[in-house]
Amino acid sequence: MSIGKNQLPRVGAHKSIANGITKAIDRGINSTCECLQIFTRPPRRWDAGRLTLDKNHVKDFIDKAKKANYFDTAIHMPYLPNISSPDDTLYLRSINVLKEEISKSHLLSSPYVISHLGSPKTESRQFAVKRVAEALDLALESRMDPTMILLENSTAKKREWGKTVEDIAEVINSVDNSKYIGMCFDTAHAYASGYDISSPETLHEIFDRIDELLGENRVQLIHLNDSKGSLNSGIDHHEHIGRGNIGIECFRELMQHSRFKSISMILETPKDELINDKDNLDLLRSLRNK
Ligand SMILES: [Zn+2]
Ligand SMILES: [Zn+2]
Repeated sequence: MSIGKNQLPRVGAHKSIANGITKAIDRGINSTCECLQIFTRPPRRWDAGRLTLDKNHVKDFIDKAKKANYFDTAIHMPYLPNISSPDDTLYLRSINVLKEEISKSHLLSSPYVISHLGSPKTESRQFAVKRVAEALDLALESRMDPTMILLENSTAKKREWGKTVEDIAEVINSVDNSKYIGMCFDTAHAYASGYDISSPETLHEIFDRIDELLGENRVQLIHLNDSKGSLNSGIDHHEHIGRGNIGIECFRELMQHSRFKSISMILETPKDELINDKDNLDLLRSLRNK
Protein backbone atom coordinates (compact mmCIF):
# COMPACT_ATOMS: atom_id res chain seq x y z
CA MET A 1 0.00 0.00 0.00
CA SER A 2 1.36 3.41 -0.88
CA ILE A 3 1.38 6.16 1.67
CA GLY A 4 -0.30 9.44 0.83
CA LYS A 5 0.07 12.80 2.48
CA ASN A 6 -1.48 13.25 5.92
CA GLN A 7 -1.24 9.65 7.02
CA LEU A 8 2.34 9.17 8.12
CA PRO A 9 5.54 11.00 7.33
CA ARG A 10 6.90 9.73 4.03
CA VAL A 11 10.59 8.85 4.15
CA GLY A 12 13.08 8.89 1.32
CA ALA A 13 16.59 9.98 0.41
CA HIS A 14 18.71 12.21 -1.77
CA LYS A 15 19.58 10.28 -4.94
CA SER A 16 22.16 10.82 -7.66
CA ILE A 17 21.15 11.72 -11.22
CA ALA A 18 24.37 10.28 -12.70
CA ASN A 19 23.69 8.94 -16.23
CA GLY A 20 20.33 10.67 -16.51
CA ILE A 21 17.71 12.26 -14.34
CA THR A 22 15.32 9.28 -14.37
CA LYS A 23 18.10 7.12 -12.89
CA ALA A 24 17.44 8.92 -9.61
CA ILE A 25 13.98 7.36 -9.56
CA ASP A 26 15.41 3.86 -10.16
CA ARG A 27 17.87 4.44 -7.34
CA GLY A 28 15.05 5.66 -5.11
CA ILE A 29 12.95 2.58 -5.80
CA ASN A 30 15.96 0.31 -5.17
CA SER A 31 16.50 1.91 -1.79
CA THR A 32 12.75 1.68 -0.91
CA CYS A 33 12.39 5.48 -0.88
CA GLU A 34 8.84 6.82 -0.56
CA CYS A 35 9.97 10.29 -1.63
CA LEU A 36 13.02 11.77 -3.30
CA GLN A 37 15.47 14.64 -3.43
CA ILE A 38 17.74 15.36 -6.41
CA PHE A 39 20.11 17.88 -7.90
CA THR A 40 19.09 18.59 -11.50
CA ARG A 41 22.70 19.51 -12.40
CA PRO A 42 26.21 18.82 -11.12
CA PRO A 43 26.18 20.57 -7.72
CA ARG A 44 29.72 22.00 -7.86
CA ARG A 45 29.53 23.54 -11.33
CA TRP A 46 27.74 26.52 -12.81
CA ASP A 47 26.78 24.77 -16.03
CA ALA A 48 24.65 21.67 -16.56
CA GLY A 49 27.65 19.52 -17.49
CA ARG A 50 26.67 16.63 -19.75
CA LEU A 51 23.22 16.47 -18.31
CA THR A 52 20.46 17.21 -20.76
CA LEU A 53 16.83 17.71 -19.99
CA ASP A 54 14.84 17.57 -23.21
CA LYS A 55 11.15 16.81 -23.72
CA ASN A 56 11.70 13.05 -23.64
CA HIS A 57 13.69 13.14 -20.41
CA VAL A 58 10.98 15.24 -18.82
CA LYS A 59 8.22 12.88 -19.95
CA ASP A 60 10.14 9.80 -18.75
CA PHE A 61 10.80 11.42 -15.41
CA ILE A 62 7.16 12.38 -14.89
CA ASP A 63 5.84 8.96 -15.94
CA LYS A 64 8.27 7.09 -13.71
CA ALA A 65 7.75 9.43 -10.76
CA LYS A 66 3.99 8.96 -11.04
CA LYS A 67 4.33 5.17 -11.01
CA ALA A 68 6.60 5.32 -7.98
CA ASN A 69 4.20 7.75 -6.22
CA TYR A 70 6.96 10.38 -5.97
CA PHE A 71 4.69 13.42 -6.07
CA ASP A 72 6.71 15.58 -3.69
CA THR A 73 10.23 15.43 -5.15
CA ALA A 74 12.58 18.10 -3.87
CA ILE A 75 15.19 19.78 -6.06
CA HIS A 76 18.19 20.97 -4.07
CA MET A 77 19.97 24.04 -5.46
CA PRO A 78 23.62 23.44 -6.45
CA TYR A 79 26.29 24.67 -4.02
CA LEU A 80 27.89 27.57 -5.90
CA PRO A 81 25.01 30.08 -6.08
CA ASN A 82 24.86 32.58 -3.22
CA ILE A 83 21.64 34.56 -2.97
CA SER A 84 23.15 36.80 -0.25
CA SER A 85 26.25 37.71 -2.27
CA PRO A 86 27.32 41.38 -2.19
CA ASP A 87 29.02 40.82 -5.57
CA ASP A 88 26.42 41.88 -8.17
CA THR A 89 27.68 39.52 -10.88
CA LEU A 90 27.62 36.49 -8.61
CA TYR A 91 24.29 37.60 -7.13
CA LEU A 92 22.56 37.87 -10.53
CA ARG A 93 24.08 34.60 -11.65
CA SER A 94 22.72 32.98 -8.49
CA ILE A 95 19.23 34.35 -9.10
CA ASN A 96 19.38 32.96 -12.64
CA VAL A 97 20.20 29.49 -11.34
CA LEU A 98 17.33 29.76 -8.86
CA LYS A 99 15.00 30.74 -11.73
CA GLU A 100 16.23 27.77 -13.77
CA GLU A 101 15.59 25.39 -10.90
CA ILE A 102 12.12 26.88 -10.39
CA SER A 103 11.35 26.29 -14.04
CA LYS A 104 12.62 22.69 -13.82
CA SER A 105 10.53 22.15 -10.72
CA HIS A 106 7.45 23.10 -12.77
CA LEU A 107 8.53 21.00 -15.77
CA LEU A 108 9.23 17.92 -13.65
CA SER A 109 6.14 18.39 -11.42
CA SER A 110 8.51 18.37 -8.47
CA PRO A 111 7.19 20.93 -6.03
CA TYR A 112 10.13 21.90 -3.86
CA VAL A 113 13.24 23.93 -4.67
CA ILE A 114 15.57 24.03 -1.66
CA SER A 115 17.97 26.90 -1.12
CA HIS A 116 20.31 27.90 1.66
CA LEU A 117 20.51 31.60 2.52
CA GLY A 118 24.15 31.92 1.46
CA SER A 119 26.75 34.37 2.70
CA PRO A 120 26.81 38.18 2.67
CA LYS A 121 30.60 37.97 3.28
CA THR A 122 31.57 41.08 5.25
CA GLU A 123 28.20 42.78 4.81
CA SER A 124 25.66 43.02 7.62
CA ARG A 125 22.75 40.77 8.49
CA GLN A 126 20.34 43.54 7.47
CA PHE A 127 22.00 43.62 4.05
CA ALA A 128 21.59 39.85 3.80
CA VAL A 129 17.88 39.90 4.71
CA LYS A 130 17.18 42.45 1.99
CA ARG A 131 19.41 40.73 -0.54
CA VAL A 132 17.79 37.30 -0.09
CA ALA A 133 14.24 38.70 -0.04
CA GLU A 134 14.92 40.54 -3.32
CA ALA A 135 16.40 37.42 -4.90
CA LEU A 136 13.33 35.40 -3.90
CA ASP A 137 10.91 38.04 -5.19
CA LEU A 138 12.71 38.17 -8.54
CA ALA A 139 12.89 34.39 -8.83
CA LEU A 140 9.22 34.00 -7.94
CA GLU A 141 8.14 36.27 -10.81
CA SER A 142 8.38 33.30 -13.17
CA ARG A 143 6.99 30.74 -10.74
CA MET A 144 4.27 28.32 -11.86
CA ASP A 145 2.47 25.55 -9.97
CA PRO A 146 3.31 23.45 -8.07
CA THR A 147 6.61 25.13 -7.15
CA MET A 148 7.53 26.35 -3.67
CA ILE A 149 10.93 27.56 -2.52
CA LEU A 150 12.03 26.02 0.76
CA LEU A 151 14.68 27.83 2.80
CA GLU A 152 16.95 25.40 4.61
CA ASN A 153 18.56 26.17 7.96
CA SER A 154 22.35 25.89 7.72
CA THR A 155 25.26 25.50 10.12
CA ALA A 156 26.55 28.89 8.96
CA LYS A 157 30.17 28.15 8.10
CA LYS A 158 32.36 30.66 6.26
CA ARG A 159 30.34 33.79 7.00
CA GLU A 160 27.14 32.07 5.90
CA TRP A 161 23.98 32.90 7.74
CA GLY A 162 20.56 31.29 8.04
CA LYS A 163 21.18 28.96 10.96
CA THR A 164 18.41 30.35 13.16
CA VAL A 165 14.64 30.24 12.89
CA GLU A 166 14.76 34.04 13.28
CA ASP A 167 16.95 34.40 10.17
CA ILE A 168 14.49 32.43 8.07
CA ALA A 169 11.47 34.20 9.59
CA GLU A 170 12.91 37.61 8.82
CA VAL A 171 13.47 36.69 5.18
CA ILE A 172 9.98 35.21 4.79
CA ASN A 173 8.45 38.32 6.35
CA SER A 174 10.34 40.50 3.85
CA VAL A 175 9.20 38.62 0.72
CA ASP A 176 6.13 39.91 -1.16
CA ASN A 177 4.85 36.50 -2.26
CA SER A 178 5.68 34.66 0.94
CA LYS A 179 2.94 32.08 0.49
CA TYR A 180 5.27 30.32 -1.95
CA ILE A 181 8.12 30.16 0.56
CA GLY A 182 8.43 27.37 3.09
CA MET A 183 11.13 25.91 5.27
CA CYS A 184 13.24 22.77 5.01
CA PHE A 185 14.38 21.82 8.52
CA ASP A 186 17.70 19.97 8.58
CA THR A 187 18.12 18.10 11.89
CA ALA A 188 21.94 17.89 11.76
CA HIS A 189 22.33 21.57 10.86
CA ALA A 190 19.94 22.56 13.66
CA TYR A 191 21.82 20.47 16.24
CA ALA A 192 25.26 21.71 15.18
CA SER A 193 23.88 25.25 15.37
CA GLY A 194 22.83 24.88 19.00
CA TYR A 195 19.25 23.58 18.79
CA ASP A 196 19.15 20.61 21.15
CA ILE A 197 16.58 18.38 19.46
CA SER A 198 17.79 15.21 21.17
CA SER A 199 14.65 14.86 23.30
CA PRO A 200 11.00 14.95 22.19
CA GLU A 201 10.34 17.89 24.55
CA THR A 202 13.07 20.10 23.09
CA LEU A 203 12.18 19.06 19.54
CA HIS A 204 8.62 20.27 20.13
CA GLU A 205 9.87 23.50 21.73
CA ILE A 206 11.77 24.30 18.55
CA PHE A 207 8.82 23.47 16.31
CA ASP A 208 6.60 25.64 18.59
CA ARG A 209 9.05 28.48 17.95
CA ILE A 210 8.96 27.82 14.19
CA ASP A 211 5.13 27.82 14.20
CA GLU A 212 5.12 31.04 16.19
CA LEU A 213 7.56 32.93 13.94
CA LEU A 214 6.84 31.41 10.52
CA GLY A 215 3.24 30.30 10.87
CA GLU A 216 1.92 26.74 10.99
CA ASN A 217 2.65 24.26 8.19
CA ARG A 218 5.57 26.32 6.91
CA VAL A 219 7.94 23.36 7.31
CA GLN A 220 7.23 21.28 4.22
CA LEU A 221 10.31 19.09 4.32
CA ILE A 222 12.71 17.69 6.92
CA HIS A 223 16.24 16.55 6.19
CA LEU A 224 16.74 13.56 8.46
CA ASN A 225 20.38 13.43 9.46
CA ASP A 226 22.04 12.47 12.70
CA SER A 227 25.05 14.65 13.55
CA LYS A 228 28.73 13.78 13.96
CA GLY A 229 29.28 17.30 15.23
CA SER A 230 28.32 17.96 18.85
CA LEU A 231 25.68 20.45 20.00
CA ASN A 232 26.51 23.99 18.84
CA SER A 233 29.83 22.80 17.33
CA GLY A 234 29.17 24.46 13.98
CA ILE A 235 30.39 21.23 12.38
CA ASP A 236 28.21 20.15 9.44
CA HIS A 237 28.94 16.46 9.35
CA HIS A 238 26.00 14.12 8.79
CA GLU A 239 25.77 10.70 10.47
CA HIS A 240 23.54 7.62 10.07
CA ILE A 241 20.24 7.72 11.96
CA GLY A 242 20.67 6.92 15.66
CA ARG A 243 24.48 6.75 15.43
CA GLY A 244 25.32 10.39 16.03
CA ASN A 245 24.98 12.94 18.79
CA ILE A 246 21.28 13.64 18.21
CA GLY A 247 20.35 10.03 18.91
CA ILE A 248 17.32 7.91 18.13
CA GLU A 249 14.67 9.62 20.32
CA CYS A 250 14.44 12.65 18.03
CA PHE A 251 13.83 10.43 15.02
CA ARG A 252 11.33 8.26 16.90
CA GLU A 253 9.31 11.40 17.74
CA LEU A 254 9.50 12.65 14.14
CA MET A 255 8.18 9.29 12.93
CA GLN A 256 5.44 8.90 15.52
CA HIS A 257 3.99 12.27 16.49
CA SER A 258 0.96 13.48 14.53
CA ARG A 259 2.50 16.94 14.28
CA PHE A 260 4.97 15.75 11.66
CA LYS A 261 2.74 13.36 9.74
CA SER A 262 2.28 15.50 6.62
CA ILE A 263 5.94 16.48 6.26
CA SER A 264 8.05 14.61 3.70
CA MET A 265 11.39 13.51 5.11
CA ILE A 266 14.64 13.01 3.23
CA LEU A 267 17.87 11.31 4.31
CA GLU A 268 21.18 12.97 3.48
CA THR A 269 23.18 10.44 5.46
CA PRO A 270 26.66 9.27 4.39
CA LYS A 271 27.01 6.98 1.39
CA ASP A 272 29.27 4.30 2.83
CA GLU A 273 29.49 0.53 2.89
CA LEU A 274 28.51 0.12 6.50
CA ILE A 275 24.91 1.30 6.32
CA ASN A 276 22.97 2.23 3.18
CA ASP A 277 19.85 4.32 2.60
CA LYS A 278 17.61 1.26 2.75
CA ASP A 279 18.99 0.33 6.19
CA ASN A 280 18.31 3.84 7.49
CA LEU A 281 14.82 3.82 5.92
CA ASP A 282 14.04 0.41 7.43
CA LEU A 283 15.03 1.72 10.84
CA LEU A 284 12.82 4.80 10.41
CA ARG A 285 9.89 2.66 9.26
CA SER A 286 10.32 0.36 12.26
CA LEU A 287 9.95 3.46 14.46
CA ARG A 288 7.04 4.81 12.41
CA ASN A 289 5.05 1.63 12.30
CA LYS A 290 4.95 1.08 16.08
ZN1 LIG B 1 21.00 21.70 1.89
ZN1 LIG C 1 20.12 19.34 4.40
